[in-house]
Amino acid sequence: MMKANCVIIGGGISGLSIAYNLAKLGMDNIVLVEKSYLGSGSTGKCGRGVRQQFTTREHIVLMRESVKLWENLSRELGREVYFRQGGYLWLLRSEDEVKLFKENIKFQNSFGVPSRLLSVEEAKEIVPQLNEDVFIAAAYCHTDGTASPFDTIEAYAEAATRLGVKICKFTEAKRIIVENGKVKGVETSRGTIESPIVVNAAGYGAKKLAKTAGVDLPLENYRHHIMVTEPLKQFLKPMVIYGTLYFNQDVHGNLIGGIDLDEKPTNVLTPRIEFLAKFARNILKVMPVLGEIKVLRQWAGFYVVTPDHHPILGEVDEVDGLYLAVGYSGHGFMMGPIVGKVIAELIVKGKPSVAIDTLNLRRFKEGKLIYEKAIIG
Ligand SMILES: Cc1cc2nc3c(=O)[nH]c(=O)nc-3n(C[C@H](O)[C@H](O)[C@H](O)COP(=O)(O)OP(=O)(O)OC[C@H]3O[C@@H](n4cnc5c(N)ncnc54)[C@H](O)[C@@H]3O)c2cc1C
Repeated sequence: MMKANCVIIGGGISGLSIAYNLAKLGMDNIVLVEKSYLGSGSTGKCGRGVRQQFTTREHIVLMRESVKLWENLSRELGREVYFRQGGYLWLLRSEDEVKLFKENIKFQNSFGVPSRLLSVEEAKEIVPQLNEDVFIAAAYCHTDGTASPFDTIEAYAEAATRLGVKICKFTEAKRIIVENGKVKGVETSRGTIESPIVVNAAGYGAKKLAKTAGVDLPLENYRHHIMVTEPLKQFLKPMVIYGTLYFNQDVHGNLIGGIDLDEKPTNVLTPRIEFLAKFARNILKVMPVLGEIKVLRQWAGFYVVTPDHHPILGEVDEVDGLYLAVGYSGHGFMMGPIVGKVIAELIVKGKPSVAIDTLNLRRFKEGKLIYEKAIIG
């Protein structure tokens, strides 16, 4: 039987960042199991956005610290992750939205996040192609940005492997083994791995897996659509947000974006054609010059959503050695660097450098939910 000091389940950004950070802190004999290829879950299907414009202390502080890590990530991991700080430009459509975002900005600024309110003219200086008839102001944070999901995944995987992490692709975790309230290991499709520490970072598969350890996670999977266009000459620096519409331009020139279809929880990822029609209607309202561009492909991935739209991070009270890094509710790519760091610190040092105790699973039992209002897509 294989033995490890820690088994991480899930080869998305969470699992890989945790594996890398654990090895960096000196832990050896770490095994990561991924049931398919790396990045095959939500990470490889996501919209690339990295922002600090949130509405709760937890999200703002985590993302402020995550952005610091993103800024140096290519250098740290030894491979380009294409983090570009073109900002997030949030177009505001009504006086009510302006009032709300003014309050949000004040709150974000109190944590050192440099978001600010822009006039229509100022927003158009950043993106001249915007239609000034559809918004009355904008919220902007120039240190927000985008990064490449697959390059980030590969960068973490390579760096973790160099530090000795064993990555087992196409290996499904079937059961988390628990005896007398303690984790004992993981039963996988390729045999059992004995381990005193298990991290459930299995994204859309996390709820089912937690059940095998007798742990009920308040997670629901929602299908979210996204599309990519043909490459265009570089013209768009920020991620643009308009209601639930978002779009940005990647380093190859392709526009990538999505919009909410108001879906119910599901485990099906077959894309719906209505998405493209709704996306096209809305993006043309915001940027009419895009009328002639060609869409290459649309796809869908899961938002793994908690009742308060915050992730569940930390150890499970009832099961010694079982850690969770799940439920990012649509913004887990951006959190990958900081989540990896704090979960690794919690495991190795017993205390993370950024407090995550209010994000523990126990908040649901204690009724201490923290509501995030700035949800996109
Ligand atoms: C359309 C869309 C747009 C998005 N846009 C953004 C964005 O702009 N910015 C942002 O920050 N976030 C965005 N997100 C959310 C983001 O993609 C996720 O929050 C993030 O990728 C979660 O990473 P993860 O590692 O936790 O999960 P995942 O990437 O899903 O990784 C979990 C992995 O676990 C594996 N797994 C599951 N069960 C098992 C098992 N039993 N055994 C072994 N392996 C298992 C899966 O195959 C998967 O690879 C978006 C999501 C979607 C769908």
